Amino acid sequence: MKNNPINFRALYDGFDAPTTDIDCGMMCAPLNKTGKPFCCDICRAVPVAYRYEWDYLEENSTIWHKWRGDECPQEPCDRMELLRQTPDHLYLLACKGPEYCQREFRATSCRQFPFFPYITSDFRFIGLAYDWDFTETCWVISNLKRVTPEYRRQFITTYDTIFSVWLEDLDSYAALSDEARDHYARLNRRFPILHRNGNTYLVSPRTEKMRKVPIDSLPQFGPFSQTFFNRL
Ligand code: SF4
Ligand code: SF4
Repeated sequence: MKNNPINFRALYDGFDAPTTDIDCGMMCAPLNKTGKPFCCDICRAVPVAYRYEWDYLEENSTIWHKWRGDECPQEPCDRMELLRQTPDHLYLLACKGPEYCQREFRATSCRQFPFFPYITSDFRFIGLAYDWDFTETCWVISNLKRVTPEYRRQFITTYDTIFSVWLEDLDSYAALSDEARDHYARLNRRFPILHRNGNTYLVSPRTEKMRKVPIDSLPQFGPFSQTFFNRL
């Protein structure tokens, strides 16, 4: 598309590394009653695209449509509420499902999952945080040590590019990061950041003080925890 400030083909090609060293969909899908990986199940997660990204996807791929809100009839959602929560520079989307996935046309939101760019309260993009809503369903969150260094590097480069063009996107992730701090402050728990310097830190949600930790010391959750497996 003309005047697109970001070349999405180039962006996608530079954000194509596997998240982990194994196909993580095989680890979570058996736990989902639909048999789909949680992040590819429209009843669990609604993908988004930047408005210019949608122009690219609409023109070049065949799997996407703009989200209507009726894609998950078994679990109807509050369509107006979800639309209200969606920032103006994004569209909600739905794809045809994992069996039809065109990997080269996965949206940025597919590639980033389960992470989002973490922004400090003084507006620095310092690394990757995960979406806490998927703590018990996403295997990656319980296995952060399996996230590849190349994926981390590509994630940072991709969002450095996006934020250099769309400051409003930095603002919306700053708001989400603020929400994360509130969430963990209520739980009285520190949360992990995969830092852009390659290290891993636990962040205090109240003071934002960071403590470097070995990545393999981070906890596992729900069905992915050792305790759960030991009970089987
Ligand atoms: S990113 Fe998480 S939810 Fe998505 S396929 Fe991998 S383990 Fe499943
Ligand atoms: S496009 Fe592919 S990766 Fe993205 S939600 Fe659909 S099936 Fe999953």
